[in-house]
Amino acid sequence: MTARVLDGRALAKQIYEEVAQAVSERVARGDSRPRLATVLVGDDPASVQYVELKQRNARSVGIESEDHRLPADTTTDELLALVQQLNRDERVSAILIQQPAPKQIDMSRIVLELDPVKDVDGFNPINAGKVALGMPDGVEPCTPAGIVHLLEKSGVSIAGANAVIVGRSNLVGKPTALLMLKRNATVTICHTKTKDLASHTRTADILVAAAGRANLIAQDMVKPGAAVVDVSTNWVDGRQVGDLGPGVDKVAGWLTPNPGGVGPMTRAMLIKNTYEAEVRRHP
Ligand code: NAP
Repeated sequence: MTARVLDGRALAKQIYEEVAQAVSERVARGDSRPRLATVLVGDDPASVQYVELKQRNARSVGIESEDHRLPADTTTDELLALVQQLNRDERVSAILIQQPAPKQIDMSRIVLELDPVKDVDGFNPINAGKVALGMPDGVEPCTPAGIVHLLEKSGVSIAGANAVIVGRSNLVGKPTALLMLKRNATVTICHTKTKDLASHTRTADILVAAAGRANLIAQDMVKPGAAVVDVSTNWVDGRQVGDLGPGVDKVAGWLTPNPGGVGPMTRAMLIKNTYEAEVRRHP
């Protein structure tokens, strides 16, 4: 078997077209134009590239954007001051703080300060709590939302499926598990203390690999026909690879390319969430 492609680039393009249409209709009605503020602390090359892509994606659909760059030695208090300023700024619909932030930044204080309405990544505990409780108005974090959207739009059934998530971070693993549960999957979350990882992954109809470990998921750890989502961005010999070992594409029924799967979907959901943040502020 050769896996069918879970084509994140193609679906992201469709989402941009839909958001562009919605923005232009909104502005034509005389309503406000959404505006995204991105914040980057430090100059990690990958993060710089991600922020620039997000800025470009926003502009391409008619969303205004502003980019705030802070030096690598910025303190938590200095970043908090910027977040408070952006919270107060009536023109700003949505705030994105590019992660990972440098070690000295206490992100738990930052996410607590973020206005939940402008929290486009769903990191504020109000949004995380609403998503955990299955409440309809919680902001779904971009990467997990992109994963479930990609599966659903590609025709992979989530309801009733055994979904195994490898990784339990607040950014990816945990919220992905919650969004799968909300869609009635039977969910298992694996992590570094999981005994016999393969015995779990082999049960997966949907396998989400988000460990950040190249070659962690070998071919014989995948159930034939499974939908496999390779979230990770590992750099090996200057090339982006995920967590999948060779041959997984021969057993999987569906597979995300990496790059070209989850990454484009994450950015598309950011743009969608930015538009929705503005609609929540000014219906
Ligand atoms: P993270 O915070 O480092 O979390 C990794 C998780 O994987 C942890 O829960 C860890 O378990 C688990 N893990 C690590 N090694 C494992 C192993 N050998 N067996 C089982 N579990 C293992 O990373 P993250 O922020 O969730 O991101 C995960 C990956 O996705 C990274 O490569 C990141 O760059 C990528 N990512 C991609 C996108 C995108 O848009 N494509 C977006 C976000 C993240 P413990 O909790 O026990 O340590």
